[in-house]
Amino acid sequence: MIKVHFVGAGPGASDLITLRGKSLLERADVIIYAGSLVNPELLAYAKQACEIYNSAEMTLDEVIDIIQAAVEVGKAVVRLHTGDPSLYGAIREQMDKLSILGISYEICPGVSSFNAAAASLQAEYTLPGITQTVIITRAAGKTPVPECEGIRALASHGATMVLFLSVGLLETVSKDLIAGGYAPDTPAVIVYKASWPEERIVRCSVQTLSKSAIENKITKTALICVGNFLGDTYELSRLYAPDFSTEYRRAKE
Ligand code: SAH
Repeated sequence: MIKVHFVGAGPGASDLITLRGKSLLERADVIIYAGSLVNPELLAYAKQACEIYNSAEMTLDEVIDIIQAAVEVGKAVVRLHTGDPSLYGAIREQMDKLSILGISYEICPGVSSFNAAAASLQAEYTLPGITQTVIITRAAGKTPVPECEGIRALASHGATMVLFLSVGLLETVSKDLIAGGYAPDTPAVIVYKASWPEERIVRCSVQTLSKSAIENKITKTALICVGNFLGDTYELSRLYAPDFSTEYRRAKE
């Protein structure tokens, strides 16, 4: 039986974890959660006797040691990551270490913060007539970004762009977005703590991103969304057009 589950905690609100994720938390003997971003309310789903560790205070090897010790005595472990673990979750290095130790694991997906941000904005990232692409990226900071994926290069597509981990680098982000091809007045938004009670939405333009973050004192836990999906124009979808036949519906004459 699998004893280690990487679980996506969702973006913040404690009822935005999946049913599967919640039941894994309820059954866990050990939970290691990413304390910098996971809502501690989720730990209320844990059993009274569950051992709880905050990985924000631990190194990779310390995390692996806890998991290994727990698995050896047959305990069920949940490694709880914010949003969906596949994005900036640093799970690959943990999985590889567990594989070397012969410990198997599964992943339970989560609602990413970029999904929660779109919900809070009541927006659709992929608007017909505007863009059919979402670029998920980050500005280069302590963690480098491959050169060909620099914001300037990605900006040339004019697609919807969602930037994680970049709110401290907005001066450069703005310049690169504009140099890459977004008009300076392209709509942009800073979404702070999407789905948390303290959520804030700051609408601005590509040009005013940095100023807007500073004025609103937003320095972390925020996403930057950029593109004309935030504007007023778009085309109606073909899927629901009366003159369009689908597998399920015939076009009206
Ligand atoms: N795996 C996570 C992302 C982890 S990286 C996910 O799928 O959402 C951490 C970064 O994610 C933060 O610096 C911030 O840019 C973003 N983030 C995480 N939760 C957020 C939230 N509730 N609102 C806005 N941004 C969030």
